[in-house]
Amino acid sequence: MAFDLPALPYSRDGLAPHISEDTLNFHYGKHHNAYVTNLNKLTEGTDLDGASLEEVIQTAAGDPAKAGLFNNAAQVWNHTFYWHSMKPGGGGRPTGRISELIDRDFGSYEDFSEAFKTAGGTQFGSGWAWLVLKDGKLEIRKTPNAETPLTEAGTTPLLTMDVWEHAYYLDYQNARPTYMASFLDNLVNWDFANQNLADAA
Ligand code: MN
Repeated sequence: MAFDLPALPYSRDGLAPHISEDTLNFHYGKHHNAYVTNLNKLTEGTDLDGASLEEVIQTAAGDPAKAGLFNNAAQVWNHTFYWHSMKPGGGGRPTGRISELIDRDFGSYEDFSEAFKTAGGTQFGSGWAWLVLKDGKLEIRKTPNAETPLTEAGTTPLLTMDVWEHAYYLDYQNARPTYMASFLDNLVNWDFANQNLADAA
């Protein structure tokens, strides 16, 4: 098979109690895995057989005839990026370069936190909230369904938060704001954001 389900960067109970092992069994073990399986079915024997995940996403983006391909490929990428956007014992205020840029571009960590949670909270239905680097400046994005800033010119994703109901319903039921607060307070991996920032330079 061309595409594999990437390993989680921690054990399935590593984010508990903020995100339970039960959630990761479904979210990673079922949902993420299904996107990989579907992507393999959709690319096997086509001219995209052997292409990289990023190539498939860029090829299918914006083409209504390739919506299924885009959705599965982008969801594989988005979820892998999301798992790395969290870590056991994460959360709280950023450090390093990302901290300096947050103060510079949002005013303060508190202002960033409010804007990030507002993006996630106002994404109607399923989607994602993102911290991105756009032309050297930090910005926040919200995207519906499988849409990803990876396809936006001059834009580097630094961090993402899944706000599909499957990300939080088992642990928080309908309380998306509580899940988002816990993501920032207990889970977010600023080392990953700093690494993405350094790689973008
Ligand atoms: Mn998800």
